[in-house]
Amino acid sequence: MAKVAIIGAGFAGHTTAMYVGSALGKDHEITMINMSDRFLYVPSLVWAGVGHFDVEKTRFPLKKVYDKFNVNFVHGKATEVHPDEQYVIAERRDNQGGQARVDYDYLVVATGPHLNFKGTPGLGPEHGNTYSICTASHTVQARDKFLESVERMKRGERQKIVVGTGHPGATCQGAAFEYITNIHKSLIKRGVRDKAELLYLSNERALGDFGVRGVHVKKNGRMFSSEEFINALFKEYGTDWKIQKGVKNVEKGKCYWEDYDGDEGETDFDFGMLIPQFTGMPMKYIGQDGEDVSAKVVNPSGFIIVDAIYGQPYEKMASNPDVWPGIYQNPNYKNIFAAGIAFAPPGPISVPHVNPNGMSISAAPPRTGMVSGATGKIVAENIIDLVKHGRMTHNERMTEMAAACIASMGDSMWDGSAAVIVVYPVVPNCRRYPNEEGRDMFVTHMEMGLAGAWMKRMIHTTFMHKLQGRIGWSLIPE
Ligand SMILES: Cc1cc2nc3c(=O)[nH]c(=O)nc-3n(C[C@H](O)[C@H](O)[C@H](O)COP(=O)(O)OP(=O)(O)OC[C@H]3O[C@@H](n4cnc5c(N)ncnc54)[C@H](O)[C@@H]3O)c2cc1C
Repeated sequence: MAKVAIIGAGFAGHTTAMYVGSALGKDHEITMINMSDRFLYVPSLVWAGVGHFDVEKTRFPLKKVYDKFNVNFVHGKATEVHPDEQYVIAERRDNQGGQARVDYDYLVVATGPHLNFKGTPGLGPEHGNTYSICTASHTVQARDKFLESVERMKRGERQKIVVGTGHPGATCQGAAFEYITNIHKSLIKRGVRDKAELLYLSNERALGDFGVRGVHVKKNGRMFSSEEFINALFKEYGTDWKIQKGVKNVEKGKCYWEDYDGDEGETDFDFGMLIPQFTGMPMKYIGQDGEDVSAKVVNPSGFIIVDAIYGQPYEKMASNPDVWPGIYQNPNYKNIFAAGIAFAPPGPISVPHVNPNGMSISAAPPRTGMVSGATGKIVAENIIDLVKHGRMTHNERMTEMAAACIASMGDSMWDGSAAVIVVYPVVPNCRRYPNEEGRDMFVTHMEMGLAGAWMKRMIHTTFMHKLQGRIGWSLIPE
């Protein structure tokens, strides 16, 4: 009987658990360890953060789902991995309390990002001066602060709202873009848009870069870029922007940054939502003699080392699609896999930049929900292969993977909107697509309109159905 342990029930780990449980759960021991006893559908937090959606509608209990798939559930925080002796220690967060020991033959680390607010002094909702929409509780705090600003505007006060990235190496610009456009729409609905100044502040090289080198599409025989598209949209929405900025320090109502040229500047705000740097979730990796074996498992940022080619200069990396991992397997401990944000990418997708003061202002590579689900499935399929046949047959790099993203720009079914963006592949692959973009120009697509708002809502409903393992779940693609 094989033992499979999975740490983290986000898009990546939960997908792995459903596939592994469904194929092996009856005859083998599958265990999920997750800090929360509920799944969180993160993409809909952009609506919850403006008070247009109940946070509770983004969550469901995990245990019921795992019972269906014969997956054991430990509600707790994994703190130690012992790769030589093959077990994980978790601090229980359920009524039992204490520690749980979970033995494994195969381990999947799918812990998502650690929100490193400490990487920028003064950032964040707990000990800092800004808000976040990266977790359910952060979103509730951001919503309340946003609604407080709205009340002030109703009383005639002007408010400055700044949304973007709070670290020179932050990622997840898509979420910040969605949040500021939803704020714009919400303020119109509440009749106070004229009282607000909106600013998008980002470390991106260009508007619409999103950490994936932007998106270029062919329409009516002409090339359009995500930069032109967002430029036009922000002008229409009366939203200002500042890009190529690395936020390095935040005080109450003010953030300080450096730009590409090394110049320093500051931005005032009444309400700020700035995405922090993402690092790997801190866990101890302990060898059989009690020694620290972290260097064999994680990179200095805490992300799991997998089958990527690390340490290449950007130009070399950008021209070689094979530097990206395909099976998400740790090279030192071959029974450890990683999926979603937890795996260490070989480097950035967007062109990096170091300013004259030595500050690297570079959008880190995003691993969105779709990529996280897809990597979770590849890992699951390979573990199923290994248990049943002793060999792996699945392999997909981000240079071969499509991603669809629906960026909400207002949730209303009547006057909402969304940008539907399909990129193939996620990481430009100049070997397969020898055009300037390195992408398939037939598949890569960008549309905007009300239909997108309907699609975004449908995707919420469809995924909440799939992720609860309801009828036909496996037919719905990741
Ligand atoms: C506001 C917002 C909007 C977004 N919108 C979109 C979108 O529209 N489309 C899209 O594709 N992507 C979107 N994303 C990105 C998407 O949410 C992430 O790519 C995705 O959640 C990553 O999945 P993951 O499984 O790797 O990590 P996570 O979703 O972060 O899941 C990790 C899980 O591991 C658990 N965990 C962590 N450490 C431990 C531990 N030590 N022990 C036990 N459990 C642990 C966590 O509690 C969590 O449940 C958005 C992100 C944000 C913040």
